[in-house]
Amino acid sequence: MSKLEIPKEVADICKKLEEADFEAYLVGGCVRDILLNREPKDWDITTNAKPEQVQKIFPDSAYENKFGTVAVKTRSENEKLKIIEITTFRIEGKYTDKRHPDEVKFAKTVEEDLSRRDFTINAIAVRVNGKSKMEKGKTETKSIIHYPLSIELTDPFDGQEDTKNKIIKTVGKSSDRFNEDALRMMRAVRFAAELGFDIDKKTEDAITKEAGLIEMIAKERIRDEFTKLVMAPGAMKGIEKLEELGLLKLIMPELREGIGVTQDKHHIYTVWEHNLRALDYTVKKNYSLEVRLAALFHDLGKPKTKAGKSPNSTFYNHEMVSAKMAAKILDRLHFSNSIVEKVIHLVRYHMFYYNVGEVTEAGVRRFLARVGPENIDDFIKIREADRIGSGVPKAVPYKLRHLLFMIDKVKRDPISPKMLKINGNELMEFLKINPSPRVGWILAALLEEVIEDPKRNEKEYLENKTKELNGLSEKELQRLFEKARESKTEFEGEIEKEIKRKYYIK
Ligand code: ATP
Ligand code: MG
Repeated sequence: MSKLEIPKEVADICKKLEEADFEAYLVGGCVRDILLNREPKDWDITTNAKPEQVQKIFPDSAYENKFGTVAVKTRSENEKLKIIEITTFRIEGKYTDKRHPDEVKFAKTVEEDLSRRDFTINAIAVRVNGKSKMEKGKTETKSIIHYPLSIELTDPFDGQEDTKNKIIKTVGKSSDRFNEDALRMMRAVRFAAELGFDIDKKTEDAITKEAGLIEMIAKERIRDEFTKLVMAPGAMKGIEKLEELGLLKLIMPELREGIGVTQDKHHIYTVWEHNLRALDYTVKKNYSLEVRLAALFHDLGKPKTKAGKSPNSTFYNHEMVSAKMAAKILDRLHFSNSIVEKVIHLVRYHMFYYNVGEVTEAGVRRFLARVGPENIDDFIKIREADRIGSGVPKAVPYKLRHLLFMIDKVKRDPISPKMLKINGNELMEFLKINPSPRVGWILAALLEEVIEDPKRNEKEYLENKTKELNGLSEKELQRLFEKARESKTEFEGEIEKEIKRKYYIK
């Protein structure tokens, strides 16, 4: 690459620092990404100016942490450029807790600062606006400024070489660096997955040796790294790498239960391989984090529910066990409630059953009521991932297309109590009764009526039905309510149907 393209906002900040007689360098991810011809995620600047001095030069800034980083606000419209972080050169003291340096010391030179960074490819600095090279008085107006790259690079650990050879290698002795901050072991795997790089042999050996240190790391940091890994193009290989290096058993032992567990005739892969391949499909399709996690976890429960010998094994109720295991993993890593809920919902109902001609429109409405119309697209994605990840995809996309067609047909039909032409208050007024469970039961029974036939969603019909229902005893109403709940499971899966047939329902 002959040119270094730097946004004007970034170049301006460097220029201001240099004009105030400080050194300013681009450093870390943005330099690496430019060398790789990738678009940087953010722009980090490092300088010998102390945080207070930086703040003086940039009054519209905030100094919030104790690690020497000042966040400068720019007026850019571009999200990535709204806030630019400027970090004072530092070297780190001892890490007694394996996560935070005991103290942060500011350093004098950029070389010192580079020496505390994790990997050689992340330890290259570029000086943009060296004073001697600046034409006095000249102001740039273009939004991107081109600079010659050659003279201004500081690369004491041969990061350029490793970038060229696609190698992740620690700066300095790997074991020491992992002892300072054990998260770096996961970062190595994540960068490899993100960039399509290999991890240097010595670095890898050190991870194998020091893997146990990961247990010292805060769950939130592990969560964030794992998230980045799952979002990376090489996510599947990355997870295999975590396993190979002994990190997976400490981070997510549940996934390992599927290793070597063979399946039924619809699968050529073990449960472990299948989960990974399902994930890989969602990665290739660039699906959301939630969908990727759900694909990775969808069959977690198979080893625990396996009965009989392959290829005739069964996995009754595995989706419920999978959902429980997924919830445990995600809670343990402190994922947000919205992510946890979404993922376990997708895992829990991924076995929905659909056969052309077998399922009625009312059945499709019940399915929508159960899984939520807003989740349908994601369920279809999981189903595809499941199918492709099995290695022997059956020719069923036609079935899915038909389901989508049916959904389209019924999508305006009422499927939730909110959509009834009579609401709770009106119902109580009409019957002259006070709030009680009875109100909920009647509403549920009305909804069941309407799901069965949307034409029934009319005030008069519902009022008549309400009167009729109110004549029932509490026991009878409750029974109706239970029945409605059960009918919603019609779609839940061949497996559940199978169980019902076998064990309790004719
Ligand atoms: P990206 O932002 O694309 O994920 P990045 O390289 O910018 O990658 P950041 O986590 O944003 O990664 O960190 C910025 C830089 O800070 C890194 O390039 C590296 O030089 C340094 N760094 C970050 N985390 C660590 C760490 N745990 N140990 C040592 N250096 C680190
Ligand atoms: Mg970054």
